[in-house]
Amino acid sequence: MEIFLIPTELKPFVDSYDNINYQLWNDEENNNVKNFRSLVRNHYLLDQKLTCFYCKQYIFSTNGLHWQVEHILPKSLFPQFLFDPKNLIVICPDCNREKGDQNPHVNGDRACSQSKYPRTSGRFKIIHPLYDTYGDHIERVPANHCDYPDHYFLKAHTPKGKATVKMCDLNRFYQEFAGYQDMKGKQVASLDEFIEENGINLLTREQKMGLVQKIMESM
Ligand SMILES: [Zn+2]
Repeated sequence: MEIFLIPTELKPFVDSYDNINYQLWNDEENNNVKNFRSLVRNHYLLDQKLTCFYCKQYIFSTNGLHWQVEHILPKSLFPQFLFDPKNLIVICPDCNREKGDQNPHVNGDRACSQSKYPRTSGRFKIIHPLYDTYGDHIERVPANHCDYPDHYFLKAHTPKGKATVKMCDLNRFYQEFAGYQDMKGKQVASLDEFIEENGINLLTREQKMGLVQKIMESM
């Protein structure tokens, strides 16, 4: 991924930030912030080819309604990285809402006061765009059996992949793929967890979904 470079004309503004007042990010009166946000969004949208970094949803639009600049280490917990390009990425509003203020740093809240941005993949529980390769952790499996064109499941293969799926609730896609209107992705996820915890991981995904469907019908 090509990292965003802060343009010279915005450097004085970024340098003047106090590293504390992260609400500045949403100050609609501040043209410097608005300019910064829109430059970051356009840069990463081009780089990501109009695809959400976490869920890989493709949206044919550059409109800010469909895209939000994400702070990987949340701005409320790590205000010092508000304008750090290494901490920024573009994601869809659904992933943004799910991830919220969850802290993906391996050291949790103890890391919040550090002044230097983490430099290695190992510092992050979830996939980091600069330090990790998405496909090493999450596989995109085409969902050929459903009515929606070009849809896919996201199958996590590593602890990082699983943490990313959990933090952004990427299981929400199962619901639509399965075509079961009443079934929530979370129900399949709970079933997954139950089966894994109890060491009876013998069912295929189709069987698990069938089981959830039967439970739903009987309720
Ligand atoms: Zn997304």
